[in-house]
Amino acid sequence: MAAGGQGTDPLPARDGWPSDPAGPDTPVARSAHDVTELARSADTLRELTARQSVCRACPRLVAWREQVAASPRRAFRGERYWGRPIPGWGSDRPRLLIVGLAPAAHGGNRTGRIFTGDRSGDFLFASLYRCGLATRPTSVDAGDGQRLVGARMVAAVRCAPPDNKPEVTERDACAPWLAAELRLVAADLRVIVCLGGFAWQAIWPVLRTCGFAQPRPRPAFGHGAEVRVASPEAPGGVLLIGCYHPSQQNTFTGRVTPAMLDAIFTRARVSAGLKSRGLIT
Ligand code: SF4
Repeated sequence: MAAGGQGTDPLPARDGWPSDPAGPDTPVARSAHDVTELARSADTLRELTARQSVCRACPRLVAWREQVAASPRRAFRGERYWGRPIPGWGSDRPRLLIVGLAPAAHGGNRTGRIFTGDRSGDFLFASLYRCGLATRPTSVDAGDGQRLVGARMVAAVRCAPPDNKPEVTERDACAPWLAAELRLVAADLRVIVCLGGFAWQAIWPVLRTCGFAQPRPRPAFGHGAEVRVASPEAPGGVLLIGCYHPSQQNTFTGRVTPAMLDAIFTRARVSAGLKSRGLIT
């Protein structure tokens, strides 16, 4: 995004950014152990997202996100990249949680908001808008005024990985951030939509950590796959829905169409008890 200053050097932690959740006193995780401790001890979403946004626990991903931020694509030359982990974003009391894989190198890693600044995000936000879950049809940067309605978005891995492929150790290191966020919103949560098989796989150990009962066998991922899970913190249960990832490859080949995404998010909105404010009722 253009806001936040010009230049091509990576944005140092705590350097100030529109809606930057972190401050000078935000503690920085430098190991998987630190992530576990700092996630567990964050009492509020505000504190949690601040801590997420300055995490440096995965050396490979820290190096990659900052290297990419220092070398903007030609189309984004002159913009300053976020170059840090992408914290959870959206409603503080969501009924719907949307879980993705990881930010894109020149998407979320550039704009500082998940699914923002790339074609996957364009496809996704257009559907969320049609279904009444976002107030605008596009998500451009962290200062564009976009809002989610009754929904929140998170990435299973908060830093952009090379080739969009995080390693298992990186996924596991990042999991406590997701578990802590899930715990802080569990009381209101009714539906989780997992975008892609990676998010589907990543959510199960996190659900177990948060006390959700695990079905046996674990249901396979598929577009429209559904399973209800319950925990003491969400006794009414949470409906887990699988959705193909709106990646460029999936949307270009027609594996995912706007109608398919709309069907998932309409189902999610209705199941979450959210009123229609969109083009689709
Ligand atoms: S992927 Fe997660 S745990 Fe690893 S550095 Fe990024 S925010 Fe921290």
